[in-house]
Amino acid sequence: MRVFKFGGASVKDAEGVKNVVRVLSETGHQNTVVVLSAMGKTTNALEEVVAAYFDSPETYRSLLHEVEVFHQNIINELFEGRNNPISKEVKNLFEQCDAFLVTNRSPHAAFVYDQVVSFGELVSTTIVCAYLNHAGIATEWIDARSCIKTDNFYRSAHLDWDQTQTAIQNQLRGTILKVTQGFIGSDENNFTTTLGREGSDYSAAILAYCLGATDVTIWKDVQGVLNADPRVFDDTQLLHHISYQEAIELAFYGASVIHPKTLQPLQRKEIPLFVKSFLDPKASGTQVGKGVRMHPQVPCYIVKRGLSLLRLSTRDFSFVVEDNISEIFRMLHDQKMSVDLIQNSAISFSVCVNDKYNNMEALLHSLRARFDVEHTSEVSLYTIRHFESDSANGLLKTHNLLLEQRTQTTLQMVMK
Ligand code: ADP
Ligand code: ASP
Ligand code: MG
Repeated sequence: MRVFKFGGASVKDAEGVKNVVRVLSETGHQNTVVVLSAMGKTTNALEEVVAAYFDSPETYRSLLHEVEVFHQNIINELFEGRNNPISKEVKNLFEQCDAFLVTNRSPHAAFVYDQVVSFGELVSTTIVCAYLNHAGIATEWIDARSCIKTDNFYRSAHLDWDQTQTAIQNQLRGTILKVTQGFIGSDENNFTTTLGREGSDYSAAILAYCLGATDVTIWKDVQGVLNADPRVFDDTQLLHHISYQEAIELAFYGASVIHPKTLQPLQRKEIPLFVKSFLDPKASGTQVGKGVRMHPQVPCYIVKRGLSLLRLSTRDFSFVVEDNISEIFRMLHDQKMSVDLIQNSAISFSVCVNDKYNNMEALLHSLRARFDVEHTSEVSLYTIRHFESDSANGLLKTHNLLLEQRTQTTLQMVMK
């Protein structure tokens, strides 16, 4: 078995869906599972539906309707002519989503989020599966919720590997092409769960692990893994080969081309991962696997934006040591801050955090009860793996350096 993952960018419009057929015709489609994300920016749009449902309920319906119109337009373009059965099937899915919201009594936002946002993947796979069949590629639609079993930590569910392994082996049989949803699963009560934003790469890795797949290919709008995000940096270079460990490091520091959780399951079974361009399927792209750490060996740049830098100091010049550090971490944990970098000296402690859940005010309130706190918002964290002496020169010319940390292989700079 092979596992292919197509992300939102690859199916952002009718042309994209047609291109999936082109890719599968070139690569062959027997013994293949396709893991698919929601189309284009659908997940963001559905997040807005959920936000509206809680904040201004009278507006959520029109937002949901816009998401449906976006998909119906793609269907019309793909199948030429209205009133085809897929159009009805997709209408039904949106009605189910609305019916959930109308009858829902749960105030638990993360639960509601998963029940609603998962429709992005359900709809995209319904459309793509129908189009593949229409184009002459026999395809079976698989409901990922019957295979990917998780706990009920909504929005960031954890996998139950044993149950998932059994379910996948029971349900993904035969040589015919299968299409299933990335990002979604279900809990023990069969409520839908999601694996965290950008989680479809991880879904592909889970399926590959449980199937003992020969390889995984993530199809992208770039040639492969580059040494920097081409949206941010000029003159990027393609990395032809990187080790699992290097890929894990790049993903961990925030290279958004691969979801960080994707690599561990693949490494455990030594399943190679290819990252390739869906516009040039014959090109070799990047291979992530055993062996050579990185070829070519070049500095890699990763940027995380929209972070906050906090500098804490003790009021009485007492040392920042174990007891106050553990207290600081407890406060960060309580406010669900994800910590990207820390640095401490005798009487001060700096931490660069990502405030994903808008809890900065609450955090500052509890920190200020104990420390003097300097807060700088909207900072960027630049990480340069395998840096050379002049690697940061360009950045230093255009940015203000607030904090720097280096190990033998990695230079990190918080900049504004
Ligand atoms: P998907 O459709 O699979 O969700 P994404 O848009 O999430 O795709 O990821 C592809 C984008 O990731 C590329 O267009 C590119 O801008 C960005 N990216 C960030 N870092 C890298 C990198 N190191 N190499 C290649 N692409 C990168
Ligand atoms: N559709 C989801 C998201 O946009 C999952 C994914 O694309 O990986 O986050
Ligand atoms: Mg993505």
